[in-house]
Amino acid sequence: MLFDLEKPYIIHSEMKLAGECMVALIKYCNTYGITDGQFDEKSFLKLRPHKMYKHCCLMKHPGAMRHRMKELFSTLPVTAIPFFISCLEEDLRFDFNHNQENYQFPGYLNTMFQGVLTVEETQKATDQLPKIFEKFYSDFFDHKENHTLKTNRERFKEEYIKLNTSKENICPACLGQMHMGKAQLDHYFPKSLFPALVIHPFNIVPICMECNSSVGKKQDRGKGNRVPAWPVDGEAINEPGCLNGVFLPYIRSGQQKFKSRIDGTPGNRVIKVEPLSTAASDEAERIRRHVDTFNLEKAWTNRIPFHFNMLMQRTLSEFARVYTDRVAIGGTVTKEEVGDFLWNKLVLNTEDTLYEVGYQFEFVSYVISMATTPECFHPFYKELLKRMEIRTRKAMPTVPHIYDSFSTTC
Ligand SMILES: [Zn+2]
Repeated sequence: MLFDLEKPYIIHSEMKLAGECMVALIKYCNTYGITDGQFDEKSFLKLRPHKMYKHCCLMKHPGAMRHRMKELFSTLPVTAIPFFISCLEEDLRFDFNHNQENYQFPGYLNTMFQGVLTVEETQKATDQLPKIFEKFYSDFFDHKENHTLKTNRERFKEEYIKLNTSKENICPACLGQMHMGKAQLDHYFPKSLFPALVIHPFNIVPICMECNSSVGKKQDRGKGNRVPAWPVDGEAINEPGCLNGVFLPYIRSGQQKFKSRIDGTPGNRVIKVEPLSTAASDEAERIRRHVDTFNLEKAWTNRIPFHFNMLMQRTLSEFARVYTDRVAIGGTVTKEEVGDFLWNKLVLNTEDTLYEVGYQFEFVSYVISMATTPECFHPFYKELLKRMEIRTRKAMPTVPHIYDSFSTTC
């Protein structure tokens, strides 16, 4: 993610408990040979290490849990269950391994059963397991706490907002505006490939709908089900070091590690994202992967007209009256004056905190590019003069309308 996030720690601890409870239940049913789902929840909760699970919301729906167990045990051969459990347990601890250079997820579904199951059994497992674990996710997040009458999804968002004040309306993946009501809880490592991480506290983060779009192809906008680790090479997503190579929600972010600049020609501008020169080489790699995973350059390129329009409005507001006065005596507004305005008023005056993490980042980065790149600045200045001239001629009000058409000079 692109900026540091505070953990919503209350709901996080409940998620941690639920993930552990889910695996403990599978283990319990396997130990006692209960493959038809008909476990007795009182006996399960009576066991010493299991007592804490009586507080877990999953155990408040024993009927649903029986169904999950029945489905699971009919999907995997009984001989593979202990191996599957050990993979889940190891993956649940993935946050302890985030700096390990050789870490791989043992429970990564596409390779987990290689050499363990037959081709047909593997096919069945990779088809069915994501569906079963998707239900655990719903069991947790659609659960309504009696004392609050809110779903865990709503409680997650509420706590996130409370702890991430001033950033709560910014998408941590693309820095675009995000309305929390519409934000989606993204599985950073997709639940379709990492069953253990389906309700894992460090794997779930709210992002905007565009970033979470389910299309997920490189040429399209969103992440979808792509794995953040090695998105460029789909085959290598669980290679050693995959965890060390990415930003992780609540653990490690790209804050103050990158910049963006305008590239291309007028009418065909694109945004390029680059690591800051101060970023270490492993940070540069993480940035590259993040940009690729979320198709960030495309997202920001799509928003160029918005920033161009905002910049044009603010510059017009600053100079339109001066321009009218100058023209009356044969003068004009100079390039230097406009350049100074962009740099001193719009770049240097911007609050650092907004520049670092807010949607101001995109705007300020855009203005920096405009102010420092002659090929960008000259067409902008020309367009500004044109608009001021039209306004002066028509004696239009100096404040432009928000729906001014976008110019090809943006
Ligand atoms: Zn986003």
